[in-house]
Amino acid sequence: MHVGLELDVKRIHQLDNDRHTRRKVGQFLPTVISSCVCTRCRRDCYSRVGLHSHYKRSKSKIHTQGV
Ligand SMILES: [Zn+2]
Repeated sequence: MHVGLELDVKRIHQLDNDRHTRRKVGQFLPTVISSCVCTRCRRDCYSRVGLHSHYKRSKSKIHTQGV
């Protein structure tokens, strides 16, 4: 029983690693573009709030010129 539990834990860790690796690889694929990408500098802010604060924080010309 005890050994079986240990195996289960090992397998869960492996699944976790797999998921982690897949997520990492996904970051390099531009196929999934969130709707929260800055239209000016193409920066992905991952969330609407993040995009909002990105606009507020960034004082660079690219964000202030024109609309
Ligand atoms: Zn931006």
